[in-house]
Amino acid sequence: MKDFAYLRAGSVDEARQAAAQPAAMLLAGGTTLLDLAKCGISALDTVIDVTHLAGLSAITFDQRGVSIGALAKMSRVADDPGIRQHFPAVSESLTQAASAQLRNMATIGGNLMQRTRCAYFRDPTAFPACNKRAPGSGCAAIGGLTRNHAVLGTSESCIASYPGDLAIALVAFDAEIHLGTRRIPADDFFLLPGKTPEREHPIEPGEMITAVSIPVSLAARQSTYLKVRDRQSYEFAAASAAVGIELAPDGRTIRDIRVALGGIATKPWRARAVEEALKGQALTVDGVERAALKAVEGAIAHGANRYKIDLAPRVVARAILKVGGLA
Ligand code: FAD
Ligand code: SF4
Repeated sequence: MKDFAYLRAGSVDEARQAAAQPAAMLLAGGTTLLDLAKCGISALDTVIDVTHLAGLSAITFDQRGVSIGALAKMSRVADDPGIRQHFPAVSESLTQAASAQLRNMATIGGNLMQRTRCAYFRDPTAFPACNKRAPGSGCAAIGGLTRNHAVLGTSESCIASYPGDLAIALVAFDAEIHLGTRRIPADDFFLLPGKTPEREHPIEPGEMITAVSIPVSLAARQSTYLKVRDRQSYEFAAASAAVGIELAPDGRTIRDIRVALGGIATKPWRARAVEEALKGQALTVDGVERAALKAVEGAIAHGANRYKIDLAPRVVARAILKVGGLA
């Protein structure tokens, strides 16, 4: 790992200004930053320490929803009684992410900025071809080992899957990412790879995440996050789903439903076709299983990741039936 300068930012403005310089990176929990620097992926000249900045770790509720500071630790947000009550899927997405030690260090802002776990991306020495790391160099994964790669949202340039859990719940419940005064819907905060997979977020130089806000809704209150993975802890999703349901007073008609998927797409994937198929319909096992198939409309397999096209609808159906009380 090469030497870098360390700057302790005195304020958010100072951090933003410093972060606008090339090869400068914010240090929050450091759990991803160090990884990337050690792998030689990040050209790191300056680390800007923001860990101590006041006012960026508060969790505050009002009638409209919750605002979570970018420096709030994953474990604290997961355990917050208000989050657990109003946004169970958000709490569950965090408790099923990484390990207890990582969750105690890692922050909400850092979590949203994590990079793909594509093994080719993370090994520049063995695999120089990676359009995300070195634009125009090709993609070593296409035609390679693809078991963990995406089947939705891919392009000819990149098929890397988005690895995080929290963002899946944020996209399902219409959260917004705050970059100071600018707010971006969570769904727009994650970009499709297209021809520019190196550009993952619409953040401009000199911007940083300051908070995340989530509006309250009956669907968010009646929600869950289901994560299927190769082992039960310390593992990224093979497929996951954040689901919330609001039932009509008759207790069986679906008035509102939110569905987003993780582990199978290049970005957190809102499954609007599933939502549209179920809104206004009676909640039944058959209806849910049929609608869940729409979650993978347009999916493209690349060799060993074909199983995800079968797995994802089952995860979606299981999550909907669980939260609807039919599992
Ligand atoms: P840092 O490492 O400090 O920063 C990460 C990146 O974000 C850096 O580029 C940094 O400059 C930037 N950054 C930090 N804060 C801001 C901000 N406020 N505004 C703009 N940019 C910012 N995650 C999951 O979701 N699910 C998992 O199952 C999972 N498993 C993991 C397993 C392992 C072994 C490891 C190492 C990580 C795993 N993770 C998982 C990822 C983990 O959640 C992230 O490493 C963590 O959330 C990053 O947060 P941090 O505060 O440590 O970020
Ligand atoms: Fe790089 Fe994307 Fe190809 Fe992985 S899938 S090697 S991240 S271009």
